[in-house]
Amino acid sequence: MPPLCPLCQQDHCEIEQTIHKNDLIKLYERAFKIDVGPLIASDVCYWHCKDCDLRFFTDKNGEMPTGDDDFYNALNKLPWYYMDEKNEYHQAKNFIKPQDRVLEVGCGKGAFAKFLSTPDYVGLEFSTDAKKLAQSRGIQIENISIQEYSQSHQGSFDVVCSFQVLEHVKDPRGFLSGKREALRGGGI
Ligand SMILES: [Zn+2]
Repeated sequence: MPPLCPLCQQDHCEIEQTIHKNDLIKLYERAFKIDVGPLIASDVCYWHCKDCDLRFFTDKNGEMPTGDDDFYNALNKLPWYYMDEKNEYHQAKNFIKPQDRVLEVGCGKGAFAKFLSTPDYVGLEFSTDAKKLAQSRGIQIENISIQEYSQSHQGSFDVVCSFQVLEHVKDPRGFLSGKREALRGGGI
């Protein structure tokens, strides 16, 4: 049975492609020397929502496969994975004032923090290695989901941002709602 769209929750998803689990395991092994076997329950379906145009992946249980701590710690060892600089950082910093409280969700090792003139920065990130690295540079990172974090930080931030993260999350709707929840009225 087709899943409900994880974004618009409508029931108009069609399968575009099936990707074999063994192909994924082989390709990750070849490209990154990472074993993704434990992360993937079955062959993976590539779906297209005809209502909102979202495309997404699920396994046979209808779950969206995502990386865990080991997976992102392994990627963290690749020198290019958590980049110190992204073009978006230069764009985004222009919207942020020196007195703003900033929350970055999926912040890697917190590289964006050093682009900002505000000292009031918190990053959320699942990788425990990235957190340790950030701490050694005086950057505050929490290993917690935005869904959980926002429950105790409602309306707390002037700016809530993410860079190249949405495609990694298994619950995009909850992710966006959590970010909205943590943002003050009129925030960015
Ligand atoms: Zn949809």
